[in-house]
Parts: sequence; C-alpha cells; structure tokens
Amino acid sequence: MKRIAILGSTGSIGRSALSVVDAHPGRLRVVALAGGENAALLAEQVRKYRPSLVTVANQPALDELKRRVGPNGGTSFLAGAEGLHAVATHYEAHIVLCASSGTAALEAVLAAIDAGKTIALANKEVLVMAGALMVEAARKHRVAILPVDSEHNAIHQCLHGRSLDEVRRLILTASGGPFRSLDRAALERVTPDDALRHPTWQMGRKITIDSATLMNKGLEVIEAHWLFGASPGRIDVVIHPQSIVHSLVELRDGSIIAQLGVTDMRLPIQYAFAYPERWDGMLAPLDLAALRTLEFEPPDDARFPCLRLAYAALERGGAWPIVLNAANEVAVEAFLAGRIAFPAIPRTIETALSAADAATSVPRTLEDVRAADTWARAFSIETLSTLRSS
Ligand code: MG
Repeated sequence: MKRIAILGSTGSIGRSALSVVDAHPGRLRVVALAGGENAALLAEQVRKYRPSLVTVANQPALDELKRRVGPNGGTSFLAGAEGLHAVATHYEAHIVLCASSGTAALEAVLAAIDAGKTIALANKEVLVMAGALMVEAARKHRVAILPVDSEHNAIHQCLHGRSLDEVRRLILTASGGPFRSLDRAALERVTPDDALRHPTWQMGRKITIDSATLMNKGLEVIEAHWLFGASPGRIDVVIHPQSIVHSLVELRDGSIIAQLGVTDMRLPIQYAFAYPERWDGMLAPLDLAALRTLEFEPPDDARFPCLRLAYAALERGGAWPIVLNAANEVAVEAFLAGRIAFPAIPRTIETALSAADAATSVPRTLEDVRAADTWARAFSIETLSTLRSS
C-alpha cells in the first residue's frame, strides 16, 4: 500500500489524482490533504478519504471546513504555511503529490524532499523558481522527483533510465493553444474568454492562458532542464495540435522514442504513483486508426515571444527564470482581469527581464528566491500601472 499526501487536492490535478486513488483502492491510500479555500469540496474529500490530516489556506476556510465536516474522529485540521508543511512532511506519507498552483508550496516541497518523501511534481513554478535548490536537495536526500506534467512524464517514460550520453535532444510537444492560427492583429483583440477555450486540455485558468501565450511551454523547457539535466540547446519544442504525442526523446543515433496517450492527466498521475511498477489503466485505450492524422509544426516566436523569453531566461540563469515567472503571473492576472491586451503579456515580461540585471543577484537560498520574486512582482505591477495611466 502506497500512502499519498496531496498538496492542492481541490484543483484539477488534485481531483484527477483522487480518482486514480479510487481506481486502485488496494494499492493507494490518502493520508493527508491540502486544499486552498474551497471548503465545500475539501469537506467532501475528508468525509470520503478520512485522511489523518487536512489543511486549508487560511483561518476563515478552516472554520468553514470544520463546520462542514462536523464531528469527526481521526482527522487533524490545520491552516496556512504550517499546515502545508505538515501535509508535505506527514510521517505516514510515502509520496507527496505537489499539485497546487503558484509558488506557495515552494517551502513545503523542499521540506518534503528533506523528509525523504518521493515527490510527484505537477507544479512547474517550484522548479522554475528554485530548480537548483530542489535538485541539490533531492540528490542529497536520494529522493526521486517524478514528473506529472504530461510532457515531462512522457520524457521520463521515453528515457526509461537511459543516461543522457545516449540522448541528442529532448523534444517537448505543445498544442499551440487556441490562437495557433491567429495573426498579430487578431491577437491584439482576443479576450480572456477566447483564451480560456483550450482545444485539447481542461486545466486551471492561469495555465490555460500560459498555453495560449506558449509561456507554459517556456516554463516546461526550464522544468525539463532541471528534471533531466539537459542544457537549453538540447531541449526543443514542436507544435502538435492533437496533444496525443506527449513528448519525444531523440537518441544520438537519430532514433526517436515517443510516448503517446489519451489527453487525460490521470495517465501521468497513475504512472508517478505506480512507478517503478506499471498498473492496469483506468482509461479507454487510444484509438490510433480513429485519429488518422498527427500534425507537427515549428513554434512561431514572432507571434508568441514568451517561448523565446523563457529560453533567454534559462540561458542567462541566476534570478532570470524567477523574474520571468513572477512577471508572467502578474501579467496573466492583469489580462484575466481585462486590464491589458494579450500581446502585453510578453511585453511586460520582457520589460521586467531587461530591468532585472541591476536589481537581482544569483539566488543561493530560498530567501534569495523569494526576494527576486518579490522584486519582479512589484516591478511588473508598477510597470503595468504606468502603462494604464499613460
Ligand atoms: Mg504540460
């Protein structure tokens, strides 16, 4: 029996993970859950899975959760950063699934690594912000970081323990998002609702916008660098609108190994939970004959500059990926709120990156990471407010 702790159990990945648990009751058990502010759904999860520990974002959500769960034996309740830390390091957990979005879980994931937990990682921000610290901690504590992000999960499967000496390049696939065929003029006019209509994947709001700008792929290039130790020059991106080939590995002799599957996050989640075993699948098999066509095309940096910005941040290193990520979060929030046009997202990030040199140094500790993040957020908010008032 593998015992699971989930950071972000009420989000899209968290809910998919619980349905994987439902499909393998003899193999998986939930011992700790961390949710945000959705007390209603979290209360249902507590009643169903009876975890030893549950935590929420803040005190009001905690009060509501306790009221909804009612008299309860066996589950402890916590809130805030202390609760997140307690779930991530829970003594009963073998595997910690990090499925919360954003950067709140950074400290908790590092604590889970220090506590020797296997990490199933669905949150890319933690690697983008603190990849060096995470990889160093994982090596020190001999902890496996198993990627749940579908592309990296695919590469993990394709590599299958191969050394990087055998590999020429890692090839990440990208759906291209809903605006793949729009020209520059049309991109100026797209709305948040247009961007939230993703053609192949059902995901949270932030990541869906990131898919439309290709920043999601940019963050994934950085993620791949840390997970697999490949230099930026050995990580490529190809647009693949059907999202059936989840990613590929080109070996030094020119052979390409690809992983294909249905577009459903339960597949990579189950892989990470089962690893190194393989368990029976819970999804309908992929019908290749019904698909008929799989297309591939190069990404267009001119219309979608975010990918180029992410490569530049990775090449430059230091605090640049942190600034890239923070400026992107601020810009995406402003776009979702209807305050800026779609092409202003990469412009905001580019402005922050060019200002970053003087303001930030190479982060060596978590405090340095937080400081660079705070600077970039404040700078981007300030930049956007001058844009609006000018
Ligand atoms: Mg992905």
